[in-house]
Amino acid sequence: MPVELKGMPIGELESFFSAEGKERFRARQMSRWLYQRFADDFSGMTDLSKPFRDQLSAGCTLTAPACELVDGSSDGTEKYLFRLQDGESVESVMIPEEGRTTLCVSSQVGCAMRCGFCATGAIGFKRNMTAAEIVNQVVFAGKRLKARDQLLTNIVFMGMGEPLENYDEVSRVIEILLSVYGFHLAGKRVTVSTAGVVPRMLSLSERFPVSIAVSLNAARDDLRSELMPINRKYPLKELVGAMREIPLHRGRKVTVEYVLLQGVNDSLADARDVARLLKGIPVKINLIPFNAHEFGDFVSPPRSVADAFRDVLIDAGMLAITRGRRGNDISAACGQLSAGQKA
Ligand code: SF4
Repeated sequence: MPVELKGMPIGELESFFSAEGKERFRARQMSRWLYQRFADDFSGMTDLSKPFRDQLSAGCTLTAPACELVDGSSDGTEKYLFRLQDGESVESVMIPEEGRTTLCVSSQVGCAMRCGFCATGAIGFKRNMTAAEIVNQVVFAGKRLKARDQLLTNIVFMGMGEPLENYDEVSRVIEILLSVYGFHLAGKRVTVSTAGVVPRMLSLSERFPVSIAVSLNAARDDLRSELMPINRKYPLKELVGAMREIPLHRGRKVTVEYVLLQGVNDSLADARDVARLLKGIPVKINLIPFNAHEFGDFVSPPRSVADAFRDVLIDAGMLAITRGRRGNDISAACGQLSAGQKA
């Protein structure tokens, strides 16, 4: 079997090349080719000798991103559908904003968490993605933006899947994203969003200086367990305890995502519960009015309800914003990714 080099962080590339009897700097060269120059084959790696390139071609492989569909939204958001080698598909979303461009990447094909409001959860879990498959989403978007003289500045693990349920491969990708020989992003520009896999939340944040986002959606255990079955395993007390323990690098905050569902979790009493629950934790709360999709019966509250909810949090001294709906017209908004699968 040829060795897949795509998805290897610098340390793995060094071990690989040293086992092959090559110099250490070869790993750095390769890392730059893969993650900074977005090479998909060895033939264009012109600073490697022809015999070395031939040797690599014979024993190694580089899986290229296979994007089947680019869907552009009227607000500039783009959704990409990738076909994986076993025929499965995943999506990622590129969101251009003032001063930054964010890519929302998938980490699993489907998802086992089954959050009630999420299209990905409704299709169920198929498999974990490899580091090569995850990083190829970033390579594809990076290359596309480079052609327009633009840069990818932020990565959020908020696409399909629960990233902390694919801990090892996601960790490899984070190493690549942060490495000076990789995408060289600052930790604050990489956000890993979790439904609340408590032990891994802590270990990941101890290992990498990335931002952590917690998908909260309810401040009472009964309601949260109904909306997010993982709450039965890691109830709010444990989740909030972990949020207090997360090392907050250089004064950063934990992001809290809260999808507003009309008549379910959007009352002023719910807002007061959230404020009470998170008191004393440095958080930034993103309120996300539910994005309709064919898998769920929930409804989005009117803007006035979302604003009133936000104001309760602000009055309690918290940082809270109501997020705009980006990419709603192409089903690229939060909770809408299903890679074209039908209910
Ligand atoms: S919200 Fe995230 S964790 Fe929950 S089902 Fe959807 S993809 Fe999975």
